This record gives sequence, structure tokens and C-alpha cells, in this order.
Amino acid sequence: MDASSSANPTTLKRKGKTSEREMGIFAVQCEECHKWRQIDTQEAYEQIRRRLLEDQFVCMQKEGTTCEDAGDLVYDSSRVWSVDKRGLPETPRGFRRSLVMRKDYSKVDAYYVTPTGKKLKMYSEIEDFLKATDPDYDSRMLEVFSFTVPKIMEKTVPKRTKE
Ligand SMILES: [Zn+2]
Repeated sequence: MDASSSANPTTLKRKGKTSEREMGIFAVQCEECHKWRQIDTQEAYEQIRRRLLEDQFVCMQKEGTTCEDAGDLVYDSSRVWSVDKRGLPETPRGFRRSLVMRKDYSKVDAYYVTPTGKKLKMYSEIEDFLKATDPDYDSRMLEVFSFTVPKIMEKTVPKRTKE
């Protein structure tokens, strides 16, 4: 990865037999030492991601960590990496945002899980849900939802064995 990339990737563990390849590891690259720091919760990761346009991420922002410490993760093909767009909004309270890698690694799909456990895959579904559940619905409420998915880093995708 080129050093100018201060993007915030999510990584996907290739091992582990989950039926869905949901991304469960979140990492941010330090602007100073370029090491990758794993961020423990999606919530904390999303906060950093939202601020990345204004605030550069450095190791010190992770509690008890400095640039002297070894990196938490190495950017290599032991995991499939995908890089998020900076500045994406944080998932609204009560909702969960899920990123799922397609089996052929061609695309990441994003969806939101509502507080009642319903999966919403399009803006129109979110709109309908908010309208139905919130009497003070306002279209601006949609601005904190985003289906912008991270870019898959091709070089980390496992090579297909040719038939
Ligand atoms: Zn650092």
C-alpha cells in the first residue's frame, strides 16, 4: 500500500467458517509511522473514520499506544483488505452497519440492521422504516446512512486456482 494512503481499511479474516463473510476487523493506518492499528469496536472505528477528513489518525489516539509499538496488523494477503472512504457517517444509535464480502470477492455489500433486527439494503427501505417508526421523521435523518462500500484491495484477494 502506498504511504500516502491514510485510509481506514476493514479487513476480512479468510479463516473461520462463517456462512457470511462479514467484516469484523477494523484498522486504521497511522499518518506518522504508517503502522496499522486495530480498533476494537466498530463504533470506535466509525468515529475515527468520520473524523479522518479533518483529523489525521496517529497511534497515540489508541489508548496506551505509541508509534514505538509494533503494528497490530500487517497489510498483506493473509487477510483480504478493503479500504473505506474517509468521512463516512457513524451508524446511528440502535442500528448496526454490516459489510459482507461476496464469496467471489467481487464486491462488498452494505446493509443496516434495525433495532428490531430487520435488514435494510436500500435507502428506500431505510426511509420506509424511519417513516413508520419515527413520528418526527425528517428526510435529513437519511443523511447519516450510507451504502458507500469499501474498496477491495485486489492484491490481497486469494488467487483462484485454475481449473
Ligand atoms: Zn504511529
